[in-house]
Amino acid sequence: MRWAAQQVSDGDVAASPDRPLPLVEQGATVRRFPTPEFRGMTFYEVRSKSVLNRVPAESQMPFAWTVNPYRGCSHACVYCFARKTHTYLDLDAGADFDSQVVVKVNAAEALRRDLGNPNWRREHVAMGTNVDCYQRAEGRYRLMPGIISALRDFATPFSILTKGSLILRDLPLLVDAATVVPVTANVSVGSTDRHVWRGVEPGTPSPQKRLEVCARLNDSGIGCGVLIAPILPYLTDSEEQIEQTVAAVAAAGATHATGIALHLRPGAREWWMAWLAREHPELVTRYKALYRGGAYAAPAYRRLIHDRLKTSVRRHGIGTPGDGNSRWLPPAELEQRPEQLALI
Ligand code: SF4
Repeated sequence: MRWAAQQVSDGDVAASPDRPLPLVEQGATVRRFPTPEFRGMTFYEVRSKSVLNRVPAESQMPFAWTVNPYRGCSHACVYCFARKTHTYLDLDAGADFDSQVVVKVNAAEALRRDLGNPNWRREHVAMGTNVDCYQRAEGRYRLMPGIISALRDFATPFSILTKGSLILRDLPLLVDAATVVPVTANVSVGSTDRHVWRGVEPGTPSPQKRLEVCARLNDSGIGCGVLIAPILPYLTDSEEQIEQTVAAVAAAGATHATGIALHLRPGAREWWMAWLAREHPELVTRYKALYRGGAYAAPAYRRLIHDRLKTSVRRHGIGTPGDGNSRWLPPAELEQRPEQLALI
Protein backbone atom coordinates (compact mmCIF):
# COMPACT_ATOMS: atom_id res chain seq x y z
CA MET A 1 0.00 0.00 0.00
CA ARG A 2 1.51 3.29 -1.07
CA TRP A 3 -0.38 5.64 1.19
CA ALA A 4 -0.29 5.15 4.92
CA ALA A 5 0.09 8.64 6.37
CA GLN A 6 -2.47 9.95 8.78
CA GLN A 7 -5.20 12.19 7.40
CA VAL A 8 -6.59 14.94 9.59
CA SER A 9 -8.92 17.77 8.79
CA ASP A 10 -10.62 20.72 10.37
CA GLY A 11 -13.43 20.35 7.90
CA ASP A 12 -14.13 19.24 4.38
CA VAL A 13 -11.86 16.29 3.80
CA ALA A 14 -11.65 14.86 0.35
CA ALA A 15 -11.37 11.14 -0.19
CA SER A 16 -7.95 9.61 0.41
CA PRO A 17 -6.37 9.20 -3.00
CA ASP A 18 -2.97 7.77 -3.74
CA ARG A 19 -0.38 10.07 -2.18
CA PRO A 20 3.30 10.92 -2.71
CA LEU A 21 5.65 8.21 -1.54
CA PRO A 22 8.44 10.47 -0.19
CA LEU A 23 5.97 12.17 2.12
CA VAL A 24 4.47 8.87 3.23
CA GLU A 25 7.94 7.71 4.14
CA GLN A 26 8.33 10.78 6.34
CA GLY A 27 5.06 9.91 8.10
CA ALA A 28 3.34 13.04 6.84
CA THR A 29 0.05 14.06 8.36
CA VAL A 30 -2.31 15.36 5.70
CA ARG A 31 -4.44 18.32 6.64
CA ARG A 32 -7.05 20.48 4.95
CA PHE A 33 -8.76 23.56 6.31
CA PRO A 34 -12.34 24.58 5.47
CA THR A 35 -11.67 28.34 5.45
CA PRO A 36 -11.91 30.20 2.12
CA GLU A 37 -8.22 31.16 2.07
CA PHE A 38 -7.18 27.49 2.12
CA ARG A 39 -9.86 26.11 -0.17
CA GLY A 40 -8.41 23.52 -2.51
CA MET A 41 -5.15 23.29 -0.57
CA THR A 42 -3.58 20.27 1.09
CA PHE A 43 -0.87 20.49 3.71
CA TYR A 44 1.59 17.69 4.46
CA GLU A 45 2.89 18.13 7.97
CA VAL A 46 6.30 16.54 8.46
CA ARG A 47 8.89 16.56 11.20
CA SER A 48 12.48 17.24 10.17
CA LYS A 49 15.66 16.17 11.93
CA SER A 50 17.42 19.29 10.65
CA VAL A 51 16.33 22.45 8.80
CA LEU A 52 19.65 24.24 8.34
CA ASN A 53 20.76 23.60 4.75
CA ARG A 54 24.24 24.25 3.44
CA VAL A 55 24.34 25.94 0.03
CA PRO A 56 26.80 24.15 -2.29
CA ALA A 57 30.02 26.18 -2.46
CA GLU A 58 30.03 26.10 -6.28
CA SER A 59 26.67 27.89 -6.40
CA GLN A 60 28.41 31.29 -5.90
CA MET A 61 25.49 32.54 -3.85
CA PRO A 62 26.24 35.33 -1.37
CA PHE A 63 25.19 33.12 1.56
CA ALA A 64 26.18 29.66 2.73
CA TRP A 65 23.14 28.59 4.74
CA THR A 66 19.38 28.59 4.27
CA VAL A 67 16.28 27.61 6.23
CA ASN A 68 13.10 26.69 4.34
CA PRO A 69 10.16 25.67 6.52
CA TYR A 70 7.84 25.04 3.54
CA ARG A 71 7.94 23.31 0.17
CA GLY A 72 5.46 24.39 -2.49
CA CYS A 73 3.97 27.89 -2.44
CA SER A 74 0.41 29.18 -2.57
CA HIS A 75 1.66 32.46 -4.03
CA ALA A 76 1.49 30.45 -7.24
CA CYS A 77 3.74 32.62 -9.42
CA VAL A 78 3.52 31.13 -12.89
CA TYR A 79 7.26 31.56 -13.48
CA CYS A 80 8.45 30.20 -10.11
CA PHE A 81 11.90 28.63 -10.35
CA ALA A 82 11.19 26.25 -7.47
CA ARG A 83 8.45 24.37 -9.31
CA LYS A 84 10.67 21.51 -10.39
CA THR A 85 11.62 20.70 -6.80
CA HIS A 86 8.05 19.49 -6.22
CA THR A 87 8.61 16.61 -8.64
CA TYR A 88 11.16 15.19 -6.18
CA LEU A 89 8.17 14.62 -3.88
CA ASP A 90 6.14 12.75 -6.52
CA LEU A 91 4.02 15.90 -6.91
CA ASP A 92 3.78 17.89 -10.12
CA ALA A 93 5.47 21.20 -10.84
CA GLY A 94 2.22 22.90 -11.84
CA ALA A 95 -1.01 22.97 -9.83
CA ASP A 96 0.41 20.66 -7.12
CA PHE A 97 3.20 23.15 -6.43
CA ASP A 98 0.59 25.86 -5.80
CA SER A 99 -1.81 23.78 -3.71
CA GLN A 100 0.08 20.89 -2.04
CA VAL A 101 2.39 22.38 0.54
CA VAL A 102 4.81 20.56 2.80
CA VAL A 103 5.08 22.08 6.28
CA LYS A 104 8.02 21.30 8.56
CA VAL A 105 5.99 21.72 11.72
CA ASN A 106 8.94 21.32 14.08
CA ALA A 107 11.17 23.75 12.14
CA ALA A 108 11.94 25.99 15.14
CA GLU A 109 12.76 23.09 17.41
CA ALA A 110 14.96 21.45 14.76
CA LEU A 111 16.71 24.76 14.08
CA ARG A 112 17.53 25.20 17.76
CA ARG A 113 19.14 21.79 17.66
CA ASP A 114 21.12 22.74 14.56
CA LEU A 115 22.27 26.07 15.97
CA GLY A 116 23.17 24.50 19.30
CA ASN A 117 25.79 22.34 17.61
CA PRO A 118 29.17 23.40 19.05
CA ASN A 119 30.56 23.51 15.49
CA TRP A 120 28.03 26.15 14.37
CA ARG A 121 29.96 29.30 13.40
CA ARG A 122 27.03 31.72 13.38
CA GLU A 123 27.23 32.40 9.66
CA HIS A 124 24.54 34.32 7.83
CA VAL A 125 21.31 32.37 7.21
CA ALA A 126 19.09 33.31 4.25
CA MET A 127 15.36 32.57 4.23
CA GLY A 128 12.84 32.76 1.41
CA THR A 129 15.44 31.59 -1.11
CA ASN A 130 13.61 28.43 -2.12
CA VAL A 131 9.95 29.16 -1.50
CA ASP A 132 8.29 32.02 0.33
CA CYS A 133 8.43 31.59 4.11
CA TYR A 134 5.62 34.16 4.45
CA GLN A 135 3.18 32.46 2.11
CA ARG A 136 -0.42 32.02 3.32
CA ALA A 137 0.29 28.82 5.28
CA GLU A 138 2.47 30.84 7.64
CA GLY A 139 -0.61 32.66 8.87
CA ARG A 140 -1.87 29.34 10.17
CA TYR A 141 1.30 27.51 11.17
CA ARG A 142 3.25 30.44 12.62
CA LEU A 143 6.66 28.84 12.15
CA MET A 144 8.64 32.03 11.52
CA PRO A 145 8.40 33.51 15.04
CA GLY A 146 10.05 30.40 16.47
CA ILE A 147 12.68 30.42 13.72
CA ILE A 148 13.51 34.11 14.19
CA SER A 149 13.70 33.66 17.96
CA ALA A 150 16.07 30.72 17.56
CA LEU A 151 18.36 32.73 15.25
CA ARG A 152 18.34 35.63 17.70
CA ASP A 153 19.03 33.40 20.70
CA PHE A 154 21.98 31.76 18.95
CA ALA A 155 23.33 35.13 17.71
CA THR A 156 23.00 34.15 14.05
CA PRO A 157 22.59 36.96 11.47
CA PHE A 158 19.86 36.43 8.89
CA SER A 159 17.95 37.84 5.94
CA ILE A 160 14.46 37.25 4.58
CA LEU A 161 13.30 37.48 0.98
CA THR A 162 9.53 37.56 0.51
CA LYS A 163 6.50 38.65 -1.44
CA GLY A 164 4.31 38.22 1.64
CA SER A 165 2.95 41.11 3.71
CA LEU A 166 2.63 38.67 6.61
CA ILE A 167 6.22 39.51 7.52
CA LEU A 168 4.81 42.62 9.21
CA ARG A 169 3.13 40.40 11.79
CA ASP A 170 6.64 39.58 13.01
CA LEU A 171 8.00 43.11 12.82
CA PRO A 172 8.38 43.57 16.61
CA LEU A 173 10.29 40.31 16.77
CA LEU A 174 12.52 41.30 13.84
CA VAL A 175 13.27 44.63 15.50
CA ASP A 176 14.11 42.81 18.70
CA ALA A 177 16.38 40.35 16.86
CA ALA A 178 18.11 43.27 15.15
CA THR A 179 19.32 44.47 18.55
CA VAL A 180 21.32 41.24 18.77
CA VAL A 181 22.34 40.37 15.18
CA PRO A 182 22.28 41.99 11.72
CA VAL A 183 18.82 41.48 10.17
CA THR A 184 17.97 42.48 6.59
CA ALA A 185 15.09 41.91 4.20
CA ASN A 186 14.21 42.05 0.52
CA VAL A 187 10.84 42.09 -1.13
CA SER A 188 10.57 41.06 -4.76
CA VAL A 189 8.57 43.23 -7.13
CA GLY A 190 9.12 42.60 -10.82
CA SER A 191 6.61 45.19 -11.96
CA THR A 192 3.96 47.54 -10.59
CA ASP A 193 1.55 46.69 -13.43
CA ARG A 194 -1.56 45.42 -11.63
CA HIS A 195 -2.96 43.63 -14.66
CA VAL A 196 0.22 41.63 -15.15
CA TRP A 197 0.43 40.96 -11.40
CA ARG A 198 -3.03 39.41 -11.29
CA GLY A 199 -2.14 37.12 -14.16
CA VAL A 200 1.30 35.91 -13.16
CA GLU A 201 1.37 36.09 -9.35
CA PRO A 202 -2.23 35.26 -8.46
CA GLY A 203 -1.65 34.27 -4.82
CA THR A 204 0.52 37.21 -3.79
CA PRO A 205 -0.18 40.56 -2.15
CA SER A 206 -0.17 43.34 -4.74
CA PRO A 207 3.14 44.96 -5.76
CA GLN A 208 1.97 48.16 -4.07
CA LYS A 209 1.37 46.25 -0.84
CA ARG A 210 4.83 44.71 -1.05
CA LEU A 211 6.40 48.14 -1.45
CA GLU A 212 4.47 49.31 1.60
CA VAL A 213 6.04 46.39 3.43
CA CYS A 214 9.47 47.57 2.27
CA ALA A 215 8.74 51.07 3.57
CA ARG A 216 7.47 49.80 6.93
CA LEU A 217 10.52 47.60 7.42
CA ASN A 218 12.86 50.47 6.63
CA ASP A 219 10.93 52.85 8.87
CA SER A 220 11.37 50.32 11.66
CA GLY A 221 15.11 50.02 11.16
CA ILE A 222 15.11 46.72 9.23
CA GLY A 223 17.02 47.54 6.05
CA CYS A 224 14.95 46.35 3.12
CA GLY A 225 15.87 46.30 -0.57
CA VAL A 226 13.90 45.26 -3.62
CA LEU A 227 14.58 42.49 -6.08
CA ILE A 228 13.11 43.87 -9.31
CA ALA A 229 12.53 40.50 -10.87
CA PRO A 230 11.67 38.82 -12.98
CA ILE A 231 11.39 41.32 -15.81
CA LEU A 232 8.97 39.61 -18.20
CA PRO A 233 9.88 39.91 -21.89
CA TYR A 234 7.30 41.91 -23.88
CA LEU A 235 5.06 42.25 -20.81
CA THR A 236 6.96 44.40 -18.31
CA ASP A 237 10.23 45.25 -20.01
CA SER A 238 9.73 48.59 -21.78
CA GLU A 239 11.79 51.57 -20.67
CA GLU A 240 8.61 53.24 -19.42
CA GLN A 241 7.50 50.20 -17.42
CA ILE A 242 10.91 49.70 -15.84
CA GLU A 243 11.13 53.39 -15.06
CA GLN A 244 7.69 53.30 -13.42
CA THR A 245 8.61 50.26 -11.32
CA VAL A 246 11.96 51.67 -10.22
CA ALA A 247 10.32 55.00 -9.31
CA ALA A 248 7.91 53.14 -7.01
CA VAL A 249 10.79 51.16 -5.51
CA ALA A 250 12.66 54.39 -4.83
CA ALA A 251 9.57 55.95 -3.26
CA ALA A 252 9.35 53.01 -0.89
CA GLY A 253 12.81 53.91 0.41
CA ALA A 254 14.50 50.70 -0.72
CA THR A 255 18.03 50.47 0.64
CA HIS A 256 19.24 48.80 -2.56
CA ALA A 257 17.91 47.19 -5.71
CA THR A 258 18.85 44.55 -8.21
CA GLY A 259 16.98 42.70 -10.90
CA ILE A 260 17.11 40.30 -13.82
CA ALA A 261 15.10 39.08 -16.77
CA LEU A 262 12.92 35.99 -16.56
CA HIS A 263 14.61 32.60 -16.54
CA LEU A 264 12.72 29.57 -17.75
CA ARG A 265 14.17 26.43 -16.28
CA PRO A 266 12.53 23.01 -16.60
CA GLY A 267 9.36 22.85 -14.54
CA ALA A 268 8.78 26.59 -14.71
CA ARG A 269 9.24 26.65 -18.47
CA GLU A 270 6.37 24.26 -19.28
CA TRP A 271 3.99 25.97 -16.84
CA TRP A 272 4.90 29.44 -18.11
CA MET A 273 4.60 28.56 -21.78
CA ALA A 274 1.18 26.95 -21.22
CA TRP A 275 0.03 30.13 -19.47
CA LEU A 276 1.47 32.27 -22.26
CA ALA A 277 -0.33 30.22 -24.91
CA ARG A 278 -3.63 30.79 -23.07
CA GLU A 279 -3.20 34.45 -22.17
CA HIS A 280 -0.83 35.86 -24.81
CA PRO A 281 -0.72 33.46 -27.76
CA GLU A 282 0.70 36.25 -29.91
CA LEU A 283 3.92 36.11 -27.84
CA VAL A 284 4.64 32.37 -28.02
CA THR A 285 6.79 32.52 -31.12
CA ARG A 286 8.80 35.45 -29.81
CA TYR A 287 9.44 33.63 -26.51
CA LYS A 288 10.57 30.50 -28.29
CA ALA A 289 13.04 32.57 -30.24
CA LEU A 290 14.25 34.49 -27.19
CA TYR A 291 14.74 31.29 -25.12
CA ARG A 292 15.91 29.00 -27.89
CA GLY A 293 19.26 28.67 -26.12
CA GLY A 294 17.70 27.19 -22.97
CA ALA A 295 16.73 28.63 -19.61
CA TYR A 296 18.22 32.07 -20.20
CA ALA A 297 16.99 34.76 -22.53
CA ALA A 298 19.39 35.66 -25.35
CA PRO A 299 22.49 37.48 -24.00
CA ALA A 300 21.75 40.71 -25.88
CA TYR A 301 18.31 40.86 -24.30
CA ARG A 302 19.66 40.25 -20.80
CA ARG A 303 22.20 43.01 -21.32
CA LEU A 304 19.46 45.38 -22.47
CA ILE A 305 17.39 44.68 -19.35
CA HIS A 306 20.40 45.01 -17.09
CA ASP A 307 21.27 48.38 -18.59
CA ARG A 308 17.71 49.67 -18.34
CA LEU A 309 17.44 48.66 -14.72
CA LYS A 310 20.83 49.98 -13.74
CA THR A 311 20.24 53.32 -15.47
CA SER A 312 16.87 53.74 -13.84
CA VAL A 313 18.04 52.70 -10.38
CA ARG A 314 20.88 55.21 -10.63
CA ARG A 315 18.61 57.93 -11.92
CA HIS A 316 16.41 57.52 -8.88
CA GLY A 317 19.37 57.38 -6.53
CA ILE A 318 18.13 54.31 -4.75
CA GLY A 319 19.97 53.87 -1.51
CA THR A 320 21.93 57.12 -1.80
CA PRO A 321 22.02 59.04 1.40
CA GLY A 322 23.46 62.02 -0.44
CA ASP A 323 26.66 60.43 -1.73
CA GLY A 324 25.49 60.08 -5.30
CA ASN A 325 26.37 56.38 -5.51
CA SER A 326 23.21 54.41 -5.99
CA ARG A 327 23.03 50.92 -4.54
CA TRP A 328 22.66 48.94 -7.73
CA LEU A 329 23.83 45.43 -6.92
CA PRO A 330 25.13 43.61 -9.97
CA PRO A 331 23.11 40.46 -10.49
CA ALA A 332 26.04 38.32 -11.67
CA GLU A 333 25.61 35.77 -8.93
CA LEU A 334 21.93 35.46 -9.76
CA GLU A 335 22.76 34.82 -13.35
CA GLN A 336 24.95 31.92 -12.27
CA ARG A 337 22.46 29.88 -10.31
CA PRO A 338 18.97 31.32 -10.53
CA GLU A 339 17.39 28.16 -9.15
CA GLN A 340 18.85 29.12 -5.79
CA LEU A 341 16.65 32.17 -5.65
CA ALA A 342 13.19 30.93 -6.42
CA LEU A 343 11.61 34.18 -5.41
CA ILE A 344 12.90 36.07 -8.33
S1 SF4 B 1 8.29 32.90 -6.90
FE1 SF4 B 1 8.38 32.94 -4.67
S2 SF4 B 1 6.43 33.74 -3.99
FE2 SF4 B 1 6.20 33.08 -6.11
S3 SF4 B 1 5.46 30.96 -6.00
FE3 SF4 B 1 7.69 30.88 -6.14
S4 SF4 B 1 8.38 30.79 -4.02
FE4 SF4 B 1 6.27 31.50 -3.99
